[in-house]
Amino acid sequence: MEVRIPRFDYRQQYRNIRTEVLQAIDDVLESGSLILGPHVAAFEQAMCAYLGTGGFAVGVGNCTDALAIALRALGVGPSDEVITVSNTAIATASAIRMVGARPVFCDIDAATLQLDPVKAEKCITPRTRAIIPVHLFGNAVNMKAITRLAGQYGLKIVEDCAQSCGTILDGRLTGTFGDVGCFSFYPTKNLGAYGDGGLCFTRDRKLAEAVREIRTYGGTIRDGVNSRLDEIQAAILEIQLRHLPQYLIRRREVAALYRRHLPAQCWVPQVTPGVQHTHQLFVVQIDRRDRVLSRMRNRGIECGIHYPMPIHLMPAFRMLEYERGSLPITEAAADRLLSLPCYPEMTEEDVKNVCSALYGALAD
Ligand SMILES: *Cc1c(COP(=O)(O)O)cnc(C)c1O
Repeated sequence: MEVRIPRFDYRQQYRNIRTEVLQAIDDVLESGSLILGPHVAAFEQAMCAYLGTGGFAVGVGNCTDALAIALRALGVGPSDEVITVSNTAIATASAIRMVGARPVFCDIDAATLQLDPVKAEKCITPRTRAIIPVHLFGNAVNMKAITRLAGQYGLKIVEDCAQSCGTILDGRLTGTFGDVGCFSFYPTKNLGAYGDGGLCFTRDRKLAEAVREIRTYGGTIRDGVNSRLDEIQAAILEIQLRHLPQYLIRRREVAALYRRHLPAQCWVPQVTPGVQHTHQLFVVQIDRRDRVLSRMRNRGIECGIHYPMPIHLMPAFRMLEYERGSLPITEAAADRLLSLPCYPEMTEEDVKNVCSALYGALAD
């Protein structure tokens, strides 16, 4: 029998919650309130309760906007530098560019593949205003060290939690450590909408007001953009948030199955100490990655790469004048990273099929 395992497929999940979702969409359409209505407010409240440190949640159009709006609300702009990693979604660097600031790329820790706080300190200059730790793959950055750096050098912290919704570090959810935590509800993420969505979380009332103002056109104090969380997506997200704990349990089970059945040639990045990983992606490092990737595809299994080209080497960011060799760990990882299918609806048999295809792809 031919095996077909996609990188991601929301349709099984949709079938499981179809009645709830269709009811929620109908409720919105019958309510007469399509923009920033009761469901956006209710979802924002629900996210505050979930994140549980007392604070304010502001739904926006997507996480790229969430990051850019957070930076603007913090007053980051042209001539400022913002430290982040090069092995992340282009979105992280694009958000920095959107406010006119300069991304400064920091190398990663070889064991966890997360931002390395020791190297981040070496990136600090008099122009550095903020740091964006990216909690990659559902793991987390060492926030104790980042918070210490930020305090010492007076930097703002904007957490990129696009891949880490639900990840716990030292007993606290990611997104609650920094000045602002930014979330993505892109369908593949841990908490996925059925379209685009994003959110800024902050414990600072003034900052929340600024984010709210920037989200809808701006106001008398500052200009803004149009980046609202859609009312229908918010209604769907209220449902998804109720199922999130179950989704995360299943992601961990899928990851545990991978660890049991993976070929020894697959190196799995370490979990940052103190972290309860949520496995938004299940990433391994492997030799001859491109060959394995195409052989997996031939066997009906879609894998991904997060990310194939470090941002500092992209032509789009040539103006930053980084050279090959400037971030050795990031660059070495880029050639070896492989993301295996990982989502809550995968069965044990799916995982075993991926692993046996890997054995086949690695042979000879
Ligand atoms: C997905 C992702 C983003 C962008 O999120 P959008 O909601 O698609 O704008 C940003 N950063 C990281 C690390 C991501 O994985």
